[in-house]
Formats: sequence, structure tokens, C-alpha cells
Amino acid sequence: MHELVHALDLASGRYNRDYTVRERRATFMQNLWRHDVGSRLRTSYHGRFATLDYQVAAAHGTIAAYANEIFTGAGFPKPPGAPAAASRHSALELRGPSSVARARGEAR
Ligand SMILES: [Zn+2]
Repeated sequence: MHELVHALDLASGRYNRDYTVRERRATFMQNLWRHDVGSRLRTSYHGRFATLDYQVAAAHGTIAAYANEIFTGAGFPKPPGAPAAASRHSALELRGPSSVARARGEAR
């Protein structure tokens, strides 16, 4: 599943220049699949950075918003607890802070 997201991003022109965004997108779908088959969720990308996007989306009921970003955009919501500057590639963020808050299940 993880590598299929990379393949989709390459084939669709949505390959983000930031490898942490690419890997978080791929790990999100990998974790969605892992959850469905009862496997332990990945919490980091080989210990280099956290990959908790699926866990956050599941907790906030925003899995569809994250998946929509994967299937229509090249970005991804900023990782939990990250400064705003780290998220400048997300199309969700380009639509404004309120859409990000909605996608992340936060009150406006
Ligand atoms: Zn990868």
C-alpha cells in the first residue's frame, strides 16, 4: 500500500518535493490499511520523523479529508504539533486556516 501511494503520486504529477510529505502521505494510507487488517500502526518513518497522521485523523473523524488530499492534491495537513512553516505545501492550508481546522476536526 505504501509504495502504491508513491506510484500514484508519480503517475498523477502529485509527487511532493518534500520527502517527509511524500512519506507521510504514503504511511497514512498504509496505516489505514494496517488498521483494517488488524496490524500495528506505524508511528514513525524509520525513526526519522513521526507518522501519526492516520491516528490523528481517526481520532478527529477527518480520515476522508486526509484521503481527499492524497487523491486530489500534492500536499498534506501539517503534522501534529508542527509549526505552520512546515506545512506550506498542503493544498488544504492554501484554502485557508478555517479549512485546515475543519480538516483536522478543530473548532474554529
Ligand atoms: Zn515511502
